[in-house]
Amino acid sequence: MSQHLVQELGVPKTYRDEILKWNGWGYTDSFFLLKDENKDVTLTGNRYDMSGEILPLLRPWFEDNLGVDVNYKTPSQSPKEIKIPSPIDNQGFIDYLRLHNISFSNAPKYRLMRSHGHTIHDMMALRYGYIERIPDIVVWVKTEYEVQLVVEGANKFDAVIIPIGGGTSVSNALDCPKEETRSICSLDLALLNKILWIDEKNLLCRAQAGIIGQDLEQQLNAKGFTCGHEPDSVEFSTLGGWVSTRASGMKKNKYGNIEDLVVHINVITSKGRIQRNCQVPRISSGPDLHQIILGSEGTYGVVTEVTLKIFPLPECRKYGSLVFPNFHQGVEFFHEVARHRCQPASLRLVDNEQFIMGQSMKLQSNSFWKDLSTKLSKLYITKWKGFKINEMVVATCVFEGSTEEVDQQMKRLNTIAEQFGGVPAGEENGRYGYRLTFAIAYLRDLGMDYN
Ligand SMILES: Cc1cc2nc3c(=O)[nH]c(=O)nc-3n(C[C@H](O)[C@H](O)[C@H](O)COP(=O)(O)OP(=O)(O)OC[C@H]3O[C@@H](n4cnc5c(N)ncnc54)[C@H](O)[C@@H]3O)c2cc1C
Repeated sequence: MSQHLVQELGVPKTYRDEILKWNGWGYTDSFFLLKDENKDVTLTGNRYDMSGEILPLLRPWFEDNLGVDVNYKTPSQSPKEIKIPSPIDNQGFIDYLRLHNISFSNAPKYRLMRSHGHTIHDMMALRYGYIERIPDIVVWVKTEYEVQLVVEGANKFDAVIIPIGGGTSVSNALDCPKEETRSICSLDLALLNKILWIDEKNLLCRAQAGIIGQDLEQQLNAKGFTCGHEPDSVEFSTLGGWVSTRASGMKKNKYGNIEDLVVHINVITSKGRIQRNCQVPRISSGPDLHQIILGSEGTYGVVTEVTLKIFPLPECRKYGSLVFPNFHQGVEFFHEVARHRCQPASLRLVDNEQFIMGQSMKLQSNSFWKDLSTKLSKLYITKWKGFKINEMVVATCVFEGSTEEVDQQMKRLNTIAEQFGGVPAGEENGRYGYRLTFAIAYLRDLGMDYN
């Protein structure tokens, strides 16, 4: 690392610096590991259903399908070995932050952690130490007023701001343009992480933009509500990030995408604050500025607070799965479900490759075939129904609502599935398939460990 004067003030301890990986997905204690003695795979830590379990089928799948040689490990740099460019210090801006007692640091480790999103390209660049332009300073704000001060300061001293929430971006919007000569400030929203109020009567909640998805949901659940928004990145992405990327959740069929859930947004722009005091969900006069903010990836301003629709927790949640002979039949089933407009909260089709991969991550005792609703199980599917293991596909479903609604939805879906050769494959397979999405990015990193 190059020698440079570190300047900082009141650096907070945030989960990003304390418990997240610097060059991979998720928690530092959770990663797929090939155990040395026999090269069986396990997910370390204890955060997930499969954590600590031996996954006997994963290594063979990994070698056969990805052509991986498990004896060859990709060299990975330690953060200390990486050459990080010295920051462009804007001393006027730094002194201004100090004057207003706003937390900041230009230390390389904080800048590097906020220099990227989570594309494969981002991860490769970190692992191989290809670091180009990164933020010059990280600023942590504690209040909306501090956001306003930082934006005013950036205007005054000609600095550039890139807001960051969870850092799970896959659109390269967190990348710093190489040609930018002004000082780039990564504005970290991690401390703006509270629910401000819940209006149980009008089914609304107001929260600060830096709240992480899973925290928002847990706190709402504790009060008997859900916001229903569940992108695959919900463990780490933030409310402000969802708004800024126009995010889509796995249960959007029932609850809508983020643009359907948002009622109000506060944004601090370089020209001032945009906010509406009226609490009605919709106004017919004039254009809706929210539609410009949604998906704008921080280019128009910093989202500080959001009012969202919330829903009472559903009385009943059930998982389900349906197996189809091939992808074409699966897609036809989806078209028919769409025609009848009877999608459950979540409905996802995985193709054969994903199906096989999903099976390779199961414990042997917990195999797909064990959970089929028919006694004849594997024999029934492959011999009697004539499904080919290397062609069949699976739809995973999540049903939410009253017990009666859920039962009706399940019956309706099963009836439609039958028309396309579909067979119910059980609740456990549905739950497993739905929850597997949380492990996928960890699996990507295992692939990267072995080139
Ligand atoms: C494994 C994985 C799974 C994913 N699954 C989904 C999915 O199911 N659905 C989906 O839609 N996306 C998904 N994504 C993409 C990503 O998680 C979303 O785009 C998410 O909404 C980003 O939120 P974030 O808080 O991480 O934002 P960040 O990555 O921190 O930022 C994203 C963009 O928003 C801007 N921004 C962030 N916060 C603010 C703010 N408060 N004010 C102004 N601008 C801001 C940033 O400058 C940047 O341009 C996934 C990504 C990964 C890696």
